[in-house]
Amino acid sequence: MSQQGYVATPPYSQAQAGMGGYSAGFGNPPPQSHYGVYGSPPQGYSAPPTGVLKPPASSSSGMPPPPVSSQYGANIQQNGAHPHSFPPPVASAPSMSPYGQPPQSAFHSMAQAPPPTQQLTNQMSAMNIGGYGQRPMQIPQSSSSSAAPQQFQTSPPTAMGHPPLSPPGQQLPSLGSPPPMATMGSVTAPPMGMSGPPGPGVHQPPLGPQGYPQQPGSPMSGPYGAQMAGPQMAGPQMAGPQSGAFPGGFPGGPAQMAGPPQKKLDPDSIPSTTQVIEDDQAKRGGQVYVTNIRGQVPPLVTTDFTVQDQGNASPRFMRCTTYSFPCTADLAKQCKVPLAAIIKPFATVPKNETPLYIVNHGETGPIRCNRCKAYMCPYMQFIDGGRRYQCVFCSCVNEVPVQYFQHLDHMGRRMDLYERPELSLGSYEFIATLDYCKNNKPPNPPAYIFMIDVSYNNIKSGLVKLICEELKTMLDRLPKEEGAETSAIKVGFVTYNKILHFYNVKSALAQPQMMVVSDVAEMFVPLLDGFLVNFQESQAVINNLLDQIPDMFADTNESETVFAPVIQAGVEALKAAECSGKLFIFQSSIPTAEAPGKLKNRDDRKLVGTEKEKTLFQPQRGVYEQLTKDCVAQGCCVDLFLFPNQFVDIATMGDVPSHTGGSIYKYSNFQVEVNGQQFLSDLRRDVEKSIGFDAIMRVRTGTGFRATDFFGAIYMNNTTDVEMAAVDCDKAVTVEFKHDDTLSEESGAVMQCALLYTTIGGQRRLRIHNLSLNCSSQLPELYKSCETDALINFFAKSAYRAILNQPLKTVREILVNQTAHMLACYRKSCASPSAASQLILPDAMKVFPVYMNSLLKTPALVGSTELSTDDRAFHRFLVNAMGVEETQVLLYPRLIPLHTMDVSSEAIPAPVRCSEERLSESGIFLLENGLYMFLWLGQACPPDLIQNLFNVPSLGHLSSEGPMSLPVLDNAHSRKIHSIISSISQRRAASMKLLIVKQKDRSEMLFRQHLVEDKGLHGGASYMDFLCYVHREIRQLLT
Ligand SMILES: [Zn+2]
Repeated sequence: MSQQGYVATPPYSQAQAGMGGYSAGFGNPPPQSHYGVYGSPPQGYSAPPTGVLKPPASSSSGMPPPPVSSQYGANIQQNGAHPHSFPPPVASAPSMSPYGQPPQSAFHSMAQAPPPTQQLTNQMSAMNIGGYGQRPMQIPQSSSSSAAPQQFQTSPPTAMGHPPLSPPGQQLPSLGSPPPMATMGSVTAPPMGMSGPPGPGVHQPPLGPQGYPQQPGSPMSGPYGAQMAGPQMAGPQMAGPQSGAFPGGFPGGPAQMAGPPQKKLDPDSIPSTTQVIEDDQAKRGGQVYVTNIRGQVPPLVTTDFTVQDQGNASPRFMRCTTYSFPCTADLAKQCKVPLAAIIKPFATVPKNETPLYIVNHGETGPIRCNRCKAYMCPYMQFIDGGRRYQCVFCSCVNEVPVQYFQHLDHMGRRMDLYERPELSLGSYEFIATLDYCKNNKPPNPPAYIFMIDVSYNNIKSGLVKLICEELKTMLDRLPKEEGAETSAIKVGFVTYNKILHFYNVKSALAQPQMMVVSDVAEMFVPLLDGFLVNFQESQAVINNLLDQIPDMFADTNESETVFAPVIQAGVEALKAAECSGKLFIFQSSIPTAEAPGKLKNRDDRKLVGTEKEKTLFQPQRGVYEQLTKDCVAQGCCVDLFLFPNQFVDIATMGDVPSHTGGSIYKYSNFQVEVNGQQFLSDLRRDVEKSIGFDAIMRVRTGTGFRATDFFGAIYMNNTTDVEMAAVDCDKAVTVEFKHDDTLSEESGAVMQCALLYTTIGGQRRLRIHNLSLNCSSQLPELYKSCETDALINFFAKSAYRAILNQPLKTVREILVNQTAHMLACYRKSCASPSAASQLILPDAMKVFPVYMNSLLKTPALVGSTELSTDDRAFHRFLVNAMGVEETQVLLYPRLIPLHTMDVSSEAIPAPVRCSEERLSESGIFLLENGLYMFLWLGQACPPDLIQNLFNVPSLGHLSSEGPMSLPVLDNAHSRKIHSIISSISQRRAASMKLLIVKQKDRSEMLFRQHLVEDKGLHGGASYMDFLCYVHREIRQLLT
């Protein structure tokens, strides 16, 4: 798939011919709102009772199978409903055991890098670094500098080849003169034939010059006037053309204005996300979700449930946009529902669920199909008395290897079915043999390199001191292989501004040694032995170094930095050590120093709204493109912690991290007192989290369809192999599927995701996730099995890629059109005939429009000159790597009322709809979306609550100057609110800084832009208006 492979490219992009033909009289809308009707009544999903999994030679029995007698293994206590009859994973079983760990030794050979042989040609000096006061930065090129007050140890000229970087090659996009800024119009409701009593306080706030409601309450409006299409704003703004000019507004021709005059709409009558979430929690919360049924739709990501793997991967690992694929490409084209899976291969498994079993087939390695190379899985069908098996993916009949032979029972199933994870579970791991390792050598454990920008800004802000202090304790908590006593991960340290300083922290040294590389154009690593070390062994030297770094650079005046050479240095160090690993780069400014990858300020907001807006998201190529390739080839993941005070070109600086499975963090205008804790908790979590390195992922499918496109923090060198320098528990890859033939209802659609990677202990493993879906020639089956949260994840990622190549306006149009198409097709082929004035939505997609509208209002897509270019690029990168849970809460934040909470209950109060009209002046609300957290204080909130939470007598005593903080106080309210905040934070991938905003303060604007049901502050319609617009589009498609 090309980069242009956007959601609407063929076969999905063709304008739908023949969508019409639905010619009922649409003229007279009924007097009542019909939003309460969502098509088919809610129905429990009825899974096919039989034949679901096609277990070996038994087409009639699904899982779970009937109990098997205990003769199959001493470890089997119970079968059928209880599949986990294997020894516990990672048990210290002897290596003979089929699931035991392999002999560790084979994977722990810590082959040292060979001694360097090349000549050192660059300027470099080495010295002890104790006691440098004034001039640590001006290290002369001679090794006998007089600047050093202590004795020098000239390091022996070590050595190394340093392939020259490719020339910078980046070019600024030509900046054409932009057309005049689009002005905001307003999209209002077309006549919907809906009436209903206006809700209390339904006033439209007067529009400010930019078209959004003015913040201070106007005399005529209640403070919480609903931002819905009321009579006041309808009419004059309805004529079509303006709507197209609306940034983030809808495309389309002239509005269809015929119809009765505007009626007020009851916001309670349109589908509510909070209600859908509550209902699913009530229906499926607290239950065990058993994965034994093909095509079973899992509970929502927001629901608390426990997963029991019985043959399909847990929805924590894989979620699909629909669990019933259409049988033909024609049907898929007709409904335009994207077919995709969101795969989070390293998703965190809760403590009450079984971790993945590890299968060790010894020297022979995992059993694979000879033709398509799929791995042994529960869907393979054993035949011929167990001597052969038919591959479910390609139908090839394979011989069963002699050592793997097992008799079949009277049902045709292998007798050892429940002793073998690969025959009975959706997810498991294989120990990989040397064939799966680079150069047929077992990998070394990975290394973490900390690379600290010590330029003026970071010294002055106290950041460098903060990082160094933290590392002393944090490195004790590096992740360990299960069962291991200490972490096998090695650590290394670099500081830099315009030049780089490497540190020798070998345990034998009394003092760390610094080595300087000032020729950044040809980066190399000046030392091998002593750069990457075991933290426990070198702890004293490392702590000594971390104590000294802040002082060494305390008086620096250097404000320029390099960036690409820093990454290059990290890759070279990993190359030399023959290992994979991660770079932690802490940088505050745009790299303007003369060096490869030097960047210029190209922030030009005049491009917003023009054809060239896409260039704001495009990285500068050249050096960074090559660096990405180098990093991926070496298994070098780059994590970027940014502390910008101004534009830093995140679109470019984030390019390498976003292709190497890395994360990007941003702390604008960093101050230790304000953002310090947030940064530290992000850093701790990042260092400690579960991760695999040097990964390559392949998604295999049954015949009839295949994976065609991939979205995530990944790199693709060809069309099938997803390369990830690293993949951690938060990173998800979204995979799109297309038909290449007809699927059969009988065999369904099976997929297998195989991820080859290196563990933190240096083991090479294969992680397998299998999933089986239904197929149907009936569209109602497809719509019934849709997953809105997964759909919106797919749309977000595909749109965010599309904006690199297409005008934003086009991308927004495609999103809206596809929304209308999906819903129109449902209406046409699934819903019972009814008046066109009724909006009928599939039950499983009834809140899809609110998510889609929220997506259209995200910073990257909305197109407003008021948004910072860096923020928009940052947002794009974040979403690109997100899983379903993260995009769900991002696009529909939780708004939690706190003033009514029961302080004696453990529960988090039920969220309310994300709209200003749900706020109350006398209330306190918490809003969180996974990135930001706000505490909103109503103007009239009770003084005793303020006293309990802030220890001041009233709201007026809280200063609005500067950031406010929430103290920890000894009373029930304070304890409760802190417990809510911490339980929310634990679920999220990044820590959220709590922002406290008072109603009607200036800072309230930041909060309000997350009220996604309302009209967007930077453009974009309210939920109500959007729904009306989509309805109008649907009606057009149906005529
Ligand atoms: Zn095969």
